[in-house]
Amino acid sequence: MTAITNHMPTAELQALDAAHHLHPFTDTAALARKGARVITQGEGVWLTDSEGHRILDGMAGLWCVNLGYGREELAETAARQMRELCYYNTFFQTTHVPAIALAAKIAELAPGDLNHVFYAGSGSEANDTNIRLVRHYWAARGKPDKTVIIGRRNGYHGSTMGGASLGGMSAMHRQGGLPIPGIAHIGQPDWWSEGGEMTPGDFGLMRARELEAKILELGEDRVAAFIAEPVQGAGGVIVAPETYWPEVQRICDKYEILLIADEVITGFGRTGNWFGSQTMGIRPHIMTIAKGLSSGYVPIGGSIVCDEVAATVAAAGEFAHGYTYSGHPVAAAVALENLRILQEDGVIDHVRDVAHPYLAERWQALADHPLVGEAKLVGLMGSIALTPDKAKRARFASEAGTVGLRARERCFANDLVMRHVGDRMIIAPPLVIRPEEIDVLIDRARKSLDETYAAIK
Ligand code: PLP
Repeated sequence: MTAITNHMPTAELQALDAAHHLHPFTDTAALARKGARVITQGEGVWLTDSEGHRILDGMAGLWCVNLGYGREELAETAARQMRELCYYNTFFQTTHVPAIALAAKIAELAPGDLNHVFYAGSGSEANDTNIRLVRHYWAARGKPDKTVIIGRRNGYHGSTMGGASLGGMSAMHRQGGLPIPGIAHIGQPDWWSEGGEMTPGDFGLMRARELEAKILELGEDRVAAFIAEPVQGAGGVIVAPETYWPEVQRICDKYEILLIADEVITGFGRTGNWFGSQTMGIRPHIMTIAKGLSSGYVPIGGSIVCDEVAATVAAAGEFAHGYTYSGHPVAAAVALENLRILQEDGVIDHVRDVAHPYLAERWQALADHPLVGEAKLVGLMGSIALTPDKAKRARFASEAGTVGLRARERCFANDLVMRHVGDRMIIAPPLVIRPEEIDVLIDRARKSLDETYAAIK
């Protein structure tokens, strides 16, 4: 077989892709019809495809390339670490410097007494760890019946059996017999779609109190934890009303329920603080991390665990859990270098500076477009809700997501990556995006919305 390279004609690459590559979360019929777009290079916020188009990546890959593409320092670090110690594990009384240094750095950056890291290869794996960890914790505290974990409908916590069960994605639950037992769900704080005639504040309180109702229904002595994303990402960048998180925190405190903040998207600067929990004012016992931890350069995830949970689990003896790639030295070294750059380059400050007011004003202005209802932005993650009638917050007559998909396709044709979740359009660009690149993002988004509007009018 001839070597398969970037220089091959796109059609040939697409044919090989279709013949041998099973894609995640992809409409295979559409893929067979059109062929996948072949991405060949990345630099800053820009991608290049096999046809030479320069695409502005408004999604930082899958919300992960926080530092932007093409950072030499990270490539150098990976090469150096591979030469020095390409692999060793941290099972059975061993450790290595990259795992030690990264855990210490994460403990320094994480708020409160979140001082301990259990490594995984991804966000999904980390959430599977969390399921086992919180159950093990309660058993160690003499409460083995505290096993149920409460998540939220339309929450996303990954694709493993555990992660997908914690999540509340109905399309995922329809396949493969999910959720697994011992997981319950409550409603999401999505006022735009589900708030009806209520004020956002009242709706936020109502949704938070569903947690209390669920705890009482299941029995306080059976509930181990509540898991939620500080800002729902894959659910459509749903920002809870201001009343929501304080009430959730009160309920977790009152009933002694562990709070797990899934920071896989919101961690490492995305919301303008190191962690989304700081932006939302919550005090989780455990945080799930991945994605921005390494800016997506290498796969790595983990759970950051508070002192008390870590001490209880440690005192209980061996935690019979771990992954071959827990704390992989190359991944850990790259993540550490990524955190160094985020910190030394002041990237979190940059997020705050560029998000407010620069992006916020332009993003909010999109709400004047005839197709757009609410526009939401927290740091550098944003969404716009598409609607045929803003005042009524109405849905389109067509099947949910049809207009969103059309808008997403217009964006893609206009060399802008935006994602659609149903009829919401979302962005989460690399955190290093500059004002002039924000202008390009907004111009292309508006053009795509105009074209979508013209097509469905
Ligand atoms: N948790 C959240 C909040 C996520 O957004 C994701 C992925 O998008 C995951 C968990 C799963 O992470 P991974 O895809 O690395 O397994």
